[in-house]
Amino acid sequence: MSDHDFLPAFPPGWVWLAGAGPGDPSLLTLGVHSALGQADVVVHDALVGGDILRFARPGAVLEYAGKRGGRPSCRQADITARLIQLARQGKRVLRLKGGDPFMFGRGGEEALELSRAGIPFRVLPGVTAGIGGLAYGGVPATHRDVNSAVTFLTGHDAGGAVPDNLDWHAISRGAPVLVIYMGVRHFAAIAERLIAAGRPASQPVAIITNASLPDQKVWETTIAEAAALIERDAIGAPAMIVVGEVVRLRAELDWLGRFAQREAAAEKVAALG
Ligand code: SAH
Repeated sequence: MSDHDFLPAFPPGWVWLAGAGPGDPSLLTLGVHSALGQADVVVHDALVGGDILRFARPGAVLEYAGKRGGRPSCRQADITARLIQLARQGKRVLRLKGGDPFMFGRGGEEALELSRAGIPFRVLPGVTAGIGGLAYGGVPATHRDVNSAVTFLTGHDAGGAVPDNLDWHAISRGAPVLVIYMGVRHFAAIAERLIAAGRPASQPVAIITNASLPDQKVWETTIAEAAALIERDAIGAPAMIVVGEVVRLRAELDWLGRFAQREAAAEKVAALG
């Protein structure tokens, strides 16, 4: 028997809802890697890049269900209908999303529809950008001396506006660290709400774009200044925003940046030498 015999077999007619992690293919779980090698059809989102899709079985059909050229995503109902149709045709259907499928990825909505349609499904969790992406940016989501809680939130609701079903007052006062998905476009409004509810305007903020990918970038700023910085540097998606004192730990924990510097220094020495 192989040492991978714990990996489940992908039965025909099933949908597996999987998360590919924030981008670095080394963050794929063994389960998702194995699923890619077994699927007949991979229905993937825009955040899942070629570095990950190349693990698909040769001959597997790759179907794109993400945003195209600024047009809104395929309607959610169409995507679910497609998953159900493929499963009923007896395909092994891998629904692959960025990060974790149940974290702001509509995986829950899709799973509910599959459940209601009687389609057997399995969920393969992934590393969410709000944890793994932060780690690549040198920001721990929690630190014992800083925060005993962490709050994940989305910067826009289903209609694209700042979510108004959130109690911003409670969040401002009671959530020491905010990890905000899809927040760059509306951060001015978010900052305004936080500050109005008593959050110090000088509190540190980190913005991490393309976390874990070769073009990852990190900015450090404050609640008051972040929106102007986003505009000035035209910071766009995909970006994670972290608000809270954990951001200060980055001064010592930015392992990726430090390593790159050390590598560059070593190269310089070698060149001089
Ligand atoms: N299910 C995903 C989130 C999907 S919502 C997860 O668990 O990570 C899409 C948002 O996720 C993006 O707008 C961005 O805020 C965040 N995101 C996903 N991948 C990212 C990455 N590599 N770098 C920065 N943010 C990322």
